[in-house]
Amino acid sequence: MAGQQYDVAVVGLGAMGAAALWRLAERGVRAIGIDRFTPPHDLGATHGQTRLFRTFCLEHPALGEYARLSRNLFQQLEQHTGESLLSVTGGTIIGHPDSLAVSGTRRAAERLGVTLNLWTAAELAARQPQHLGLRADDVAVFDAEAGVANPEGFIRAALQRAGELSAKVLTQVSVRAIEDDGNGVRIATSAGEVRADQVVLASGAWLARFAPDLPLDPIRTVMTWFDAAPGYGLAEFPVFVREIHPALTLWGHGALPGGAVKLGLGDIGVPRSSLDPDHIDRHITREDTAELRQTVSQWLGGIDAQPVSAHPCMITRTPDAQFIVGRYRRNVLVAGGDSGHAFKHAPAIGEIIAAEAVGKTVELDTAFIAPQRFL
Ligand SMILES: Cc1cc2nc3c(=O)[nH]c(=O)nc-3n(C[C@H](O)[C@H](O)[C@H](O)COP(=O)(O)OP(=O)(O)OC[C@H]3O[C@@H](n4cnc5c(N)ncnc54)[C@H](O)[C@@H]3O)c2cc1C
Repeated sequence: MAGQQYDVAVVGLGAMGAAALWRLAERGVRAIGIDRFTPPHDLGATHGQTRLFRTFCLEHPALGEYARLSRNLFQQLEQHTGESLLSVTGGTIIGHPDSLAVSGTRRAAERLGVTLNLWTAAELAARQPQHLGLRADDVAVFDAEAGVANPEGFIRAALQRAGELSAKVLTQVSVRAIEDDGNGVRIATSAGEVRADQVVLASGAWLARFAPDLPLDPIRTVMTWFDAAPGYGLAEFPVFVREIHPALTLWGHGALPGGAVKLGLGDIGVPRSSLDPDHIDRHITREDTAELRQTVSQWLGGIDAQPVSAHPCMITRTPDAQFIVGRYRRNVLVAGGDSGHAFKHAPAIGEIIAAEAVGKTVELDTAFIAPQRFL
């Protein structure tokens, strides 16, 4: 591999890196993607069969535009590859009217000029009786564009499409060091050296190795599935986020055909210790699911609170719970700091990176995710 020269090298082919490689290839950039494993795999952040897709994102009002762009790009990729990537089911965001979940969702919808249907607690209880313990002043906003996205399918499809467009994909190759040599970057890998004009760092929980001055906090979290009791199919129990109180958010969706109900708790703002991603504990204990089991038994009805399966996953948090995406050094771009909500935006993030790499801009507000806010 010595001496191979590319316009752009992408390090890490999870959701963000696969998206970046695909969007670079669509622009005709001579690109290479490198991953230490064989994506999609279950050792990083992009696995577990489903991710919630919401358009009116409570995390930042500008993310509605990202979600709409991503939806279009998911659909384009579905057409090119035949892979099913996004099922729109509608979804509910539940909480007190002043909760971040409800007020943030409404803010994002307003920015897109959409007025969301607002249900009272009584209306929600009539439509989704699975939710127990609703307070009289709780409300639910209905996001008709919400649904379930397919993480492994997206990586497969993005890498397939990138390959068809002449991008090179290297798997089972670990990047060891990256050096700016004045003319571009030299990338030392387990299979020799790669040279590129620019590099995109998209190594997920391992990003701090290459960008030690960014405030990245990788943590372990657990994905958990429950038996599909009556009333818990995806159609009857579509995607939801429920802010029970500011420190407790339950999210999930009903079972896909033949599958299980997926439920989880919010990880942002919750005390957790940072991990070394090479030493993540992949063994699941009862302690791992204790708070979720307790939450499910208290706040959902008609479902067995004992999980049928659980699997570890990683989230990389940032101080403001927004991603870190954009130019980081002269020849180095970064796509990371996923903060637990980036899968749905991966195609838009790939597009931002690809545009930046070729000196173009996208019609999206990117200031709130720019690396410069921390440098
Ligand atoms: C439990 C859970 C639930 C979530 N729910 C949602 C949701 O409902 N909706 C949503 O939008 N988002 C959700 N997310 C977040 C979403 O899954 C992540 O934002 C996204 O998957 C992050 O992708 P990534 O590309 O940054 O990281 P990763 O997928 O981890 O990719 C990083 C890649 O870099 C590679 N790599 C690392 N080091 C090297 C190296 N030295 N050399 C070569 N390759 C390297 C790794 O092998 C890996 O493939 C959830 C996350 C978790 C954990």
